Amino acid sequence: TATPVPSFIRTLISDDLAAGKNDGRVITRFPPEPNGYLHIGHAKSICLNFGLAADFGGRCHLRMDDTNPEKESVEYAEAIMDAVRWLGFDWGEHLYYASDYYERLYQFAVELIRAGRAYVDSLTAEEVRAQRGTLTEPGQESPYRNRSVEENLDLFARMRAGEFPDGAHTLRAKIDMGAANINLRDPVMYRIQRASHYRTGDAWCIYPMYDFAHPLSDAVEGITHSICTLEFEDHRPLYDWFLDQLPKLPHPRQIEFARLNLSYTVMSKRKLLELVKLGDVTGWDDPRMPTLVGMRRRGYPPTAIRTFCERIGVGKSDSWIDLSVLEDCVREELNETAPRVMAVLRPLKVVIENYPEDQVEEFDASNHPQKPEFGTRKVPFCRELYIERDDFMEDPPKKFFRLAPGQEVRLRCAYFIRCESVVRDPESGEIVELRCSYDPASRGGSAPDGRKVKGTIHWVSARHAVAAEVRVYERLFTAANPDTAKAAGGTYRDLLNPNSLEILRGCRLEPALAAAAVEARYQFERLGYYCLDAVDSTAEAPVFNQIATLRDSWAK
Ligand code: ATP
Ligand code: MG
Ligand code: MG
Repeated sequence: TATPVPSFIRTLISDDLAAGKNDGRVITRFPPEPNGYLHIGHAKSICLNFGLAADFGGRCHLRMDDTNPEKESVEYAEAIMDAVRWLGFDWGEHLYYASDYYERLYQFAVELIRAGRAYVDSLTAEEVRAQRGTLTEPGQESPYRNRSVEENLDLFARMRAGEFPDGAHTLRAKIDMGAANINLRDPVMYRIQRASHYRTGDAWCIYPMYDFAHPLSDAVEGITHSICTLEFEDHRPLYDWFLDQLPKLPHPRQIEFARLNLSYTVMSKRKLLELVKLGDVTGWDDPRMPTLVGMRRRGYPPTAIRTFCERIGVGKSDSWIDLSVLEDCVREELNETAPRVMAVLRPLKVVIENYPEDQVEEFDASNHPQKPEFGTRKVPFCRELYIERDDFMEDPPKKFFRLAPGQEVRLRCAYFIRCESVVRDPESGEIVELRCSYDPASRGGSAPDGRKVKGTIHWVSARHAVAAEVRVYERLFTAANPDTAKAAGGTYRDLLNPNSLEILRGCRLEPALAAAAVEARYQFERLGYYCLDAVDSTAEAPVFNQIATLRDSWAK
């Protein structure tokens, strides 16, 4: 369904095809590290990689980029697969793991040693860092740089065999300590690390570094276009260098694009994990999180996320996208697709004094006023109702067209009612009930005498209502860029929004919502979009999440 958006990447690929490269194939990959849950930034990369493959009749691989044993897990890998599927993409048989390439990567490293292009260094990590130089100063060569091929082969084999403690040696590419690009100053290819890997267990005690593993994984899979974010632009010469040393392998083209930065949230997995661990949120799937599991639980349709990714496009310069762009995509889609229902979130009881005590009638309510194909449903009406507390004012200003003492209002698809008196709690003085009258002649919403009623409000029959908890959300952070807290000596967590979650108990929903399914999304008329919470809701105690308000109410 996605209409191709012209982008510089599409142009580059078209040029490659026109030049007869890659035998006319386009193979991309999405390479997450299973060290956390995917977030909306990843969605941009997923839509881009799978979208390009689809547009060019190629394919996109899902590759777990799992070369950091300490932080990775099966749980994360499975969650990644779920999230990609949920977004509507299919990798078919093309699921890969960088950890499956460990033996081949090792053999490639041996080849580089044989060619005199890699050496075992015995400096400590700090020493290597100190000798790396700066932008203005060249690096210094390690005293171990000119070890013989034989010695390097022997030491590297013994590194693998576990003869040395962690950190005793590294394998480094032998490139150029004077290179202007620091990434080319003999980067580390392997480190010794005794850590169990979630897939390979203790089979290895040396692990390849990203800059070495990534180009080779791409080449092994026959990737034609390796698309990554801009911070890897400076690594591209290294990407190409490794592949140039191994000419038997295909040479994918690395292309960089600007990562998504979204306001009022954070997107590094490290920070998201911290929010989870410190209890700022209830988990990775907290509906306030920018994770795909969070958005799913919140009720965001995956198609709206895809629309968002198309709308923001793909560029070459880093920029910020306002969260309202995403919220608008969600709102626009739900406006089209969500059936309308009535729900009262802050109930105020209304008793219609002239309505017979045990009478019940049913009104046919339209499920989508602009779309008759959505059909209608029955909504019961009786003497006692709930309306929204905000829809009544005891002492209203002039243009308040809802309910007030002596004032008439229309109940959606039912009758006109007039407020005759109020009942107060004798202790607090708070208004706890409205005594009203109704006009039987106004059934269906207009009076035969032609008198005008400006306001229409929603309501729920007290006798038939479903009681529920409703969770209303605001943005997780109060600042567009939470990292600005650093400048003030703090952290992004200082800018967490203390009001990001409001729990409303004792809400009253129309009875049709007793049958709400998980992932069904509704418009609560006049309020916003809501869905059942997939985690905390039970048949006895339903819980709904606010997906979005009807309009962008954040703008101050
Ligand atoms: P983080 O810094 O959030 O941990 P990451 O880049 O380390 O993210 P990976 O799992 O390595 O996370 O990312 C997988 C892919 O998703 C990479 O190709 C990366 O370029 C892409 N990606 C990650 N974050 C974004 C983002 N904000 N915008 C676009 N693409 C992203
Ligand atoms: Mg990464
Ligand atoms: Mg990361």
